[in-house]
Amino acid sequence: MEKTFLMIKPDGVQRNLIGPIVERLENKGFKLAGAKLMHVSESLAKTHYQEHQDKPFFGELVDFITSGPVFAMVLEGENVIDTARLVVGATNPQQAAPGTIRGDFGLTVGKNIIHGSDSPESAEREIGLFFDESEVLDYDLINSSWIY
Ligand code: ADP
Ligand code: MG
Repeated sequence: MEKTFLMIKPDGVQRNLIGPIVERLENKGFKLAGAKLMHVSESLAKTHYQEHQDKPFFGELVDFITSGPVFAMVLEGENVIDTARLVVGATNPQQAAPGTIRGDFGLTVGKNIIHGSDSPESAEREIGLFFDESEVLDYDLINSSWIY
């Protein structure tokens, strides 16, 4: 089953939004395969966001993501990579549709609540950066052949 990486950023954790966000993801039908509260080191932040290293906001982005705990998740489900991005919403919360996580909870692009992998390649790479193999669990939900 397809897996993706999501991370509630320090603003989401500080605002006590872990519960409401995880609730939305579970309600959508995705299954948590891994989850943990953690600090992101400067080197992990730079590796995770390496595609943006030449952007003017890179320094600010690394400072922000290392500023406090994040809630890292591996989610599993049919087409979860693209569908989780839809649930997350557009990068700029001012353009994100109401009903999406960023559209409902965020207001600025620098503090947009949550990260979600954008492709199968980045999902595999980011899961590997943030989680040991033993932290990603393979299990069935009882009596739920219609969810994952
Ligand atoms: P997404 O998180 O939707 O995949 P990007 O990969 O383009 O978006 O950017 C990574 C993160 O960098 C964004 O989530 C956002 O926090 C930050 N970011 C993107 N564009 C800007 C910007 N113009 N100014 C400040 N921060 C930005
Ligand atoms: Mg991205």
